[in-house]
Amino acid sequence: MQKRKPPVRMCIGCGAHKDKRELIRVVRNKEGEIRLDPTGKMAGRGAYLCYDVSCLQKCRKTQKLARSFSCQIPDEVYDGLEAQLLKEKEAASVAAE
Ligand SMILES: [Zn+2]
Repeated sequence: MQKRKPPVRMCIGCGAHKDKRELIRVVRNKEGEIRLDPTGKMAGRGAYLCYDVSCLQKCRKTQKLARSFSCQIPDEVYDGLEAQLLKEKEAASVAAE
């Protein structure tokens, strides 16, 4: 059986290139809402992050997310993303077992 190369995306927090399935998509929809998109199918502008709160905190510090979405991101949005990321991480680790 031949190995197929999975699509690779870059985490905007740590800059690591990873299999798309190992990253979580962050999306900014046309209403300007920013949220995590575990399905990877939401419409809007997307960026990718590791399932790791420290990567989210890194891009919070460097404003990388704000830059890739070209908008301001308020603290409460980051707090919401962080909470959602923890939840998704938990769900993903349960699914992996
Ligand atoms: Zn990362």
